[in-house]
Amino acid sequence: MQKKIIIAIDGHSSTGKSSFAKAIAARMGYLYVDTGAMYRAVTLYALRHGFISPQGDVEEDRLTSALPAVTITFVRDADGRNMTCLNGENVEHEIRDIRVSSYVSRVSAIAAVRAHLVRLQQQMGIDKGIVMDGRDIGTVVFPAAEMKIFMTADPHVRAERRYKEMKSNGSTVSFDDVLANVLRRDYEDENRSVTPLRRAPDALLLDNSRLSPEEQMEWLEKQLGVPCAGTE
Ligand code: C5P
Repeated sequence: MQKKIIIAIDGHSSTGKSSFAKAIAARMGYLYVDTGAMYRAVTLYALRHGFISPQGDVEEDRLTSALPAVTITFVRDADGRNMTCLNGENVEHEIRDIRVSSYVSRVSAIAAVRAHLVRLQQQMGIDKGIVMDGRDIGTVVFPAAEMKIFMTADPHVRAERRYKEMKSNGSTVSFDDVLANVLRRDYEDENRSVTPLRRAPDALLLDNSRLSPEEQMEWLEKQLGVPCAGTE
């Protein structure tokens, strides 16, 4: 039996990070944490409370003061899927809509929001045995993670993935809008002043443009040097 480790997965949006992270967590019996969902939940909170103007300006001071009142938890539904809860309410679908996607990069650029969520994420990983995905997991949240992966994929493949996901959830959004959102978020995530998206120097690079879930798992097992199942 192997010792439990922390697996940090970072990369651009819609590169398949969460599907891969969930598959690894299921295989290894680890906890999976989607940190993008946490930034999305704070964004939804800010929208609902009128902290974001129609022009997209975020009232940082009001949002910062409200942070102690924002509780984010994850529960499993009857099919074993992770559901994100904001102050006890299941907001899993709402946090994926284009409105939240349009503002989330701005909310996640606020230093107080990042500090608050990073602290929560570090607490979640205290016992290890965790797979966490996001933008700063290998660089800020768990710089000493035993395994770091940085995922990329062709922007068109990523937009197609997000478009299909949104369509299947009943959204009427157009492909061009989804592609524009993916490209804009890349730019905003890479160019913000607070912890911009960067590949940690010791992160393994995985281009996921054309890999099947089985190929991803084979890649991981090769990197770990052991089959993934059966860790304790
Ligand atoms: O992963 P997902 O695309 O759902 O993340 C939504 C947004 O949350 C990202 O575009 C990014 O702005 C922000 N984010 C972040 N740091 C993380 C995870 C997500 O800034 N660790």
